[in-house]
Amino acid sequence: MADLIDGKARAQTLRDTIKVETSELVAKGTTPGLAVVIVGSDPASQVYVRSKGKMAKEVGFNSFTHELPESISQKDLLELVDTLNNDAAVHGILVQLPLPNHIDEQLVINTISPDKDVDGFHINNVGKLVIGGEGFVPCTPLGCWLMIKDQCADMSGMNAVVVGRSNIVGKPMASLLLGESCTVTIAHSRTRDLPALCRTADILVAAVGRPEMIKADWIKPGAIVIDVGINRIDAEDGGRGRLVGDVDFAGAEPVAGAITPVPGGVGPMTIACLLRNTLQAARRLG
Ligand code: NDP
Repeated sequence: MADLIDGKARAQTLRDTIKVETSELVAKGTTPGLAVVIVGSDPASQVYVRSKGKMAKEVGFNSFTHELPESISQKDLLELVDTLNNDAAVHGILVQLPLPNHIDEQLVINTISPDKDVDGFHINNVGKLVIGGEGFVPCTPLGCWLMIKDQCADMSGMNAVVVGRSNIVGKPMASLLLGESCTVTIAHSRTRDLPALCRTADILVAAVGRPEMIKADWIKPGAIVIDVGINRIDAEDGGRGRLVGDVDFAGAEPVAGAITPVPGGVGPMTIACLLRNTLQAARRLG
């Protein structure tokens, strides 16, 4: 049976450390400040934003939430970002994605000061990650990386397969694993014989968005399996339904060496890593 990688507990430990380090920074005169900007009223985004604000306060940060109407112009949004860039009380800026269609998402992201880009999506931070520089790393792959490190401090020479090539998960995850000297393959919807490729993986990261797509017989015995997927399965009786990952957890657990559950794996680590990045920003900016 695989070791269960308890992301919830790991995230709590990380937040406890952040809380202690925050109080030390506050004593020196700097209270980390996280500004979260949300445009429109998407219920899922609102849940994420609320939980980010709550966790930020719990570790001792100042939390500033800017809720803007769906109809806000790109110009007004860029002006707000600029104001936050120049606000000394704000060390981290996060613009919740997706943005409405009339707003150029990439332009907004690249208007955030790279020094306050705690999501790690600014092109400067993307570039730093690729060349191995000191920038901000996107929170979800950072959380995955921390959990893999706990399982295996030296990944050098291991085969890693990342399924999914998005800018927010798949590509930065691959860069982190390459930085650990893994032999990395990025798979996507055009990959041929995905099951055979996955079977080569000592480390398998699934970031696809397809419920339980990765089956038990795709997994190399003993592999570390990180399931990023969050998929809601509707209940047959019209109830709340349930969340599942991209990996068939029940089938994979007896085969893998270690595996993250959904929920309670990558999700909690993502928010904890946002706090980690914000503390780092506050330390750098003072
Ligand atoms: P995207 O939709 O941006 O990317 C999905 C990737 O999966 C694409 O590269 C796509 O390939 C690939 N893909 C789709 N179908 C297949 C297939 N049949 N075989 C192989 N590859 C396939 O998703 P994200 O990266 O944003 O998110 C992935 C999942 O992770 C989602 O479930 C999301 O909800 C979850 N997530 C969880 C987070 C957390 O905190 N736990 C944070 C962020 C995301 P192609 O490029 O060819 O289309």
